[in-house]
Amino acid sequence: MADFEKIKERAGKLHKAIDDYRYRYHVLDDPTVTDESYDSLMAELREIEKEYPELKTADSPTQRIGGKPLDKFEKVKHRKRQWSLDDAFSFEEMQEWEDRNRRILEKKEVKADFDYTVELKIDGLKIVLDYEKGLLKTGATRGDGKIGEKVTENIKTIRSVPLKLEEDLDVTVVGECWLPSGELARINEERKEQGLPEFANSRNAGAGSMRQLDPKVAASRKLDSFFYEINWMSDESRMPKTQTGELELLEKLGFKVNQKHQHFNKLEEIKEYYSKWEKEKTKQIYGIDGLVVKINSKELQRELGYTGKSPRFSIAWKFQPEKVTTIVEGIRVQIGRTGALTPVAELRPVRVAGSVVSKATLHNEDEINKKDIRIGDTVIIHKAGDVIPEVVEVVKKLRTGKEKKFEMPKTCPICGGEVRREKIEDKKKGFSSAHFCLNKNCFAIDRENIIHFVSKKGFNIEGFGEKIVEQLMNEGLVSKISDIFQLKQGDLEPLERFAEKSAENLIKAIEESKKIAFEKFLYALGIRHLGEEGAILVKKQLENPESVIGKIAKSNRIEINSPLDLLNLFGKILKEDLDQIKGFGDKMSVSVISWFKEAENVESLKELSALGVSFEKIEEKKASETGGKFENKTFVLTGALPNLTRDEAKDLIRKEGGDISSSVSKKTDFVLVGDDPGSKYEKAQKLGVRILDEEEFLKMLK
Ligand code: NAD
Repeated sequence: MADFEKIKERAGKLHKAIDDYRYRYHVLDDPTVTDESYDSLMAELREIEKEYPELKTADSPTQRIGGKPLDKFEKVKHRKRQWSLDDAFSFEEMQEWEDRNRRILEKKEVKADFDYTVELKIDGLKIVLDYEKGLLKTGATRGDGKIGEKVTENIKTIRSVPLKLEEDLDVTVVGECWLPSGELARINEERKEQGLPEFANSRNAGAGSMRQLDPKVAASRKLDSFFYEINWMSDESRMPKTQTGELELLEKLGFKVNQKHQHFNKLEEIKEYYSKWEKEKTKQIYGIDGLVVKINSKELQRELGYTGKSPRFSIAWKFQPEKVTTIVEGIRVQIGRTGALTPVAELRPVRVAGSVVSKATLHNEDEINKKDIRIGDTVIIHKAGDVIPEVVEVVKKLRTGKEKKFEMPKTCPICGGEVRREKIEDKKKGFSSAHFCLNKNCFAIDRENIIHFVSKKGFNIEGFGEKIVEQLMNEGLVSKISDIFQLKQGDLEPLERFAEKSAENLIKAIEESKKIAFEKFLYALGIRHLGEEGAILVKKQLENPESVIGKIAKSNRIEINSPLDLLNLFGKILKEDLDQIKGFGDKMSVSVISWFKEAENVESLKELSALGVSFEKIEEKKASETGGKFENKTFVLTGALPNLTRDEAKDLIRKEGGDISSSVSKKTDFVLVGDDPGSKYEKAQKLGVRILDEEEFLKMLK
């Protein structure tokens, strides 16, 4: 299916599912998913519509407010349209909101001098009250924004709603009706006894109480209220000039106003207030799901006006969701230290509870079957114990029929070895089953490769030690080298040994390692028989357009900037070419040529390129430009030198243009010998290669 068709199908599915959730929530007061999951589906639909405006139909849930009023109530047409609020989930989005408003005002040549009133976003039910000559006339729900339900008698049971105002005004006010948290438990207890379904949260219980035909039911519940808006006044001269002024007037008239509102001169200053409330949101007896930030000046509010469903001058800055939806893009199998095979969901990266995650362990086959998780499914995820990403459930409504069932492999995906399902006993969890690879070396080989890849002489990723490699492999986060560059901070934070800062640091170090010297990259690949020296040798060849490899690169016009270029180059190189290079032994040539032919390695190089790994520039050097003392000479080192370390000696040789090889052959020019030399010394003697000690070597350098 073409991409657009797929997206269209997805948008259609989202539309239908959201409509259904919305109906259950707003009309029946009986939601089946959490608000956060709902918001995250809504965000996805909004994102699609932004990119493909042709998919934004007039009846899209993104264009609607609330739900239909129920027929069981008399309907009221609101004097003024009742709006919803746009959401922001990060400070960056808040900043975009401010910038957009600034641009709109600048176009109108109005000075954009913003200050803000910030209120708590009360998670309740919106109510709209009309007063005539100071007396409560009607009370209504928001409904679809134009028409609401008349619930006057029920509203009158809320003790904090004034039936008579302090002044004889004609006024329409808007506020939130809510249920104290303790009340929810009490009501649910009562409902349980009566065999009725329990309310999901206090917002629904509040809405359910307000939308009862019998006011006695509403009266029996301790509903409360907060008011935040004067919608209309017959005497326009009394309308306050600012939102802060409006809150003051509401209070003066006798309404209950939430006291936690605060005035700010700059958006930046609100950040701290947001963090404070995000931490303290559960400490109040009413629900809060964010802050409402409003431009204080009523005049600027008028200038900015409204979009189809919400005001431009105010926005809901919602708290970080703890449950969100995302898509299972794949399920891969991970091998742990014990040989256990663990299925891991590869998720479309998503922000949850403050950080981005891309993987979630699915534990074992039974767990996948129990939750019926398939590849392609939309799932709700949360962080268990606040840190470990976990799939809570599948949103089956969004299935297209093309989702793929997952089966545990019959052979080990890593080594091809035999796999067996075995029973395991856990003291806490009891019996369960897991699949095991019977090859005991399986995990170890992979682990060694990855340790080698990130080590000092390879990618040199700081903080990526052996323990961390093992841990990430065990957790199913890394099983091949390209996985390293796909890690997200939120994948690391749950792990032992990691905190927010260390997770951030490791992600940063990985990012920085992506630009790497060519020879270090080649070495990091861990090609058998191609050590550090071999890698340097290849680099030298590339620096010299007259060399064997240099010529091949030049005639094929291949510039080596990325792993993909390297792959292309080795596509042109034959074993016979490598045989001509001094320092390349037979074993090494065979190994290198076959490495670049293996499908898995080809894939890996492609992935690394796609993930942004690239090489530092390889500068061309003519042989005559270097002109060192050891130009074209090959050294082999053996034994411990009295003064120099091995690396120091190697550096000196390389500086003078010499090469280092790990084995002695007829092509070797010098063997530098220290104490306790190995078999290389004997071989050199046998082949008649010139032998040097440190003193002679240093003399040659002078
Ligand atoms: P919203 O969250 O978009 O916010 C707008 C509402 O916030 C206003 O109408 C008002 O009632 C309220 N509010 C609270 N304090 C306020 C303040 N100080 N100033 C101004 N307004 C204030 O609300 P919405 O448009 O009614 O509906 C969307 C909400 O309903 C979302 O939170 C969504 O998660 C939830 N929802 C959930 C489901 C579900 O199935 N779980 C389904 C549909 C909608």
